[in-house]
Amino acid sequence: MTSEHVHIAIVGAGFSGLGAAIRLRQAGIHEFVILERDEEIGGVWRDNLYPGCACDVESPLYSFSFAPNPGWSRMYSPQAEILAYLRRCADEHGVRAHLRLGHAVSEAVWDPDHRRWALETSRGRFTADVLIAGTGGLSEPRVPELRGRERFEGRAFHSARWDAEAPLSGRVAVVGTGASAVQIVPNIVDRVGQLKLFQRTPAWVVPRKDRAFSRLEQRMFALAPFTQRMLRAQLYLRHESFLLGFRNPALMRLVQRRALRYLADQVPDRELRARLRPNFTLGCKRILVSDDYYPALTRDKVEVVSAGVREVVGSGLVDTEGRTHEVDTIIWATGFEVAEPPFARYVRGRSGDSLAQVWRGSPKAYLGTTVAGFPNLFLLTGPNTGLGHSSMLLMIEAQLELILGAVRELGRGAVTIEPDPQVQARFVEEIERGGAGTVWTAGGCSSWYLDGTGRNSTLWPWSTFSYMRRAKFERGDYVIEDA
Ligand code: NAP
Repeated sequence: MTSEHVHIAIVGAGFSGLGAAIRLRQAGIHEFVILERDEEIGGVWRDNLYPGCACDVESPLYSFSFAPNPGWSRMYSPQAEILAYLRRCADEHGVRAHLRLGHAVSEAVWDPDHRRWALETSRGRFTADVLIAGTGGLSEPRVPELRGRERFEGRAFHSARWDAEAPLSGRVAVVGTGASAVQIVPNIVDRVGQLKLFQRTPAWVVPRKDRAFSRLEQRMFALAPFTQRMLRAQLYLRHESFLLGFRNPALMRLVQRRALRYLADQVPDRELRARLRPNFTLGCKRILVSDDYYPALTRDKVEVVSAGVREVVGSGLVDTEGRTHEVDTIIWATGFEVAEPPFARYVRGRSGDSLAQVWRGSPKAYLGTTVAGFPNLFLLTGPNTGLGHSSMLLMIEAQLELILGAVRELGRGAVTIEPDPQVQARFVEEIERGGAGTVWTAGGCSSWYLDGTGRNSTLWPWSTFSYMRRAKFERGDYVIEDA
């Protein structure tokens, strides 16, 4: 069977993949395709259609620095607006022609003879000199493997696969109290007959203080773009200052006091309040920002079930205390496969082993981007590029500069680039040391930031500025094969 050869194959057309495409074009590199499994672009902002879906980092900061949007309607823009922004970015930056929609990649194998990647997709084969994975860390829904799941007689779906047809007017169970549930619950509460929220671990919630941008502000941002840049800079510095608390958990007590006051103001019922009180240091799990979550939980039709789910039965859920809860609809707001992304299973490097086999549940990559033994592979939002305190787009953009540096090196005669295994190992140790004593590792919670081995393989433990400074292509850090 024939295959199409491309210089660069980008997998995924979300913020990462589109950002890569735009920066490549801006750098004068046009020989690339974007392989997207869906028929539409947008990544998580296409997939998450639950009521109330919005960003939880302010829009002026949660957007590309090279594509400011003076038209954001609110500080925290809703999903549809973010998706429209991404579509506009793709149009305005000439990315559409590079898109191969409906191309699900099922295998990416390094071909040592031709020194390139061989890709299998649902619509044919490709070969590529360079593979950029923009597959996202939060793209594969995770529904707990509970006994009896197939026996449930009602409608059940994951928050990221919203079933718009599901009748919400009856008895609804929401399982999970993460960033998705906190947006879903207040936005369906008016519609449901009865809502049971399964809370295994109470989360820290702080006020969002969302507000609309006025017409005047939008006009000002459009006519004098530096005003929006100033707002972005101010938001950037505010988020970076949060890092002080994340790195010094004792300081988080001050913020915790404010969050507890917020809880007390919002939830008058003492017994409910006690159940909602978190028992770990603020920041250990993602901090939830919401103005309407607590008020929703005080409604008569809402019950907070302070237990996990033990099993699913035909009529509903059995909690870990053995109580059966009869419901008509189950919404699994139970998060994503972070430490074992499916992409890792189908990318095979020099040794023939997949990333998943090499990582064994604990992903490692140099600067979160390149992996020893996997030449010319670049991971966007790879291991330890996640953030608990600011906008992921800052990290993605910094990674793109690093990748551009490597791609330019390939343009100068290099054929393969991969990190020196020792440089990668030293980097991983450094990350380990950098995470010690932070709220993520010492905050007394179990979160998806830590993998099955207890390592932080998700977050960058320092400032975004320090990542931007380091994410430059330094020849000496890599093993480079020339033609
Ligand atoms: P999540 O943070 O992983 O939360 C999953 C929830 O499900 C947790 O409360 C967890 O409880 C619970 N859970 C998992 N398995 C369970 C079981 N067997 N029984 C009972 N409860 C169970 O997932 P998410 O809320 O979808 O958010 C994931 C990430 O996506 C966020 O941290 C954020 O980075 C991103 N996100 C962003 C936005 C945004 O505003 N832009 C919105 C949504 C999501 P435990 O806490 O006890 O583990």
